[in-house]
Amino acid sequence: MKMELLVATHNLHKKEEIQQILGDEFIVKSLSDYNLHDEIVEDGDSFNANALIKAKYCFEKTGIPSLGDDSGLVVESLDGRPGIFSARYAGDHDFAKNIEKVLSEMGNIENRKAYFITVLCYYDENGAKYFDGRAHGNLLKENKGHQGFGYDPIFVPEGYEMTFAEMNPEDKNKISHRKQALDLFLEFLKK
Ligand code: IMP
Repeated sequence: MKMELLVATHNLHKKEEIQQILGDEFIVKSLSDYNLHDEIVEDGDSFNANALIKAKYCFEKTGIPSLGDDSGLVVESLDGRPGIFSARYAGDHDFAKNIEKVLSEMGNIENRKAYFITVLCYYDENGAKYFDGRAHGNLLKENKGHQGFGYDPIFVPEGYEMTFAEMNPEDKNKISHRKQALDLFLEFLKK
């Protein structure tokens, strides 16, 4: 029997990416499919806490096994910032301003190491389970490329000479933090 999974997002693109990775043994549903329109307040102090808030909200509302996620950019020389504040570091989902703030805080500092992280929280009647994926790399001093979103134009993944924003989306999605976390989740589901 196919398993239904509720993903704590309104973003159709995210829902479809997850459906594609998990395959057709799963029926992936989003918040809109269940008419859940409350704003889920992500006020946790870690990626895990925020992913849990989303997954638990969905499970408690519907009783359907649920998945919450939280992602962000962690910069070594900035003591981990922007971290859980990645989406609204300078302006809410204003990608250009957020990048500008990170680059200005880093200045000419030589250590450009950073990673993207995704934490997934799966919640069902047995409680919460976490899966995380990381993409390590280095930050440029200026934008390069126009694909993707968020901090992609300044992030060069390890082993590559181009930014995430210069890669085609399929190539990025093969090595991304989200993909690595979803692969671990899939392994767990298949057990
Ligand atoms: P979310 O938790 O998936 O909504 O991600 C939060 C924020 O982290 C986004 O608004 C972006 O600023 C940043 N982020 C997460 N994943 C990526 C990525 O793959 N590329 C660039 N930025 C990302």
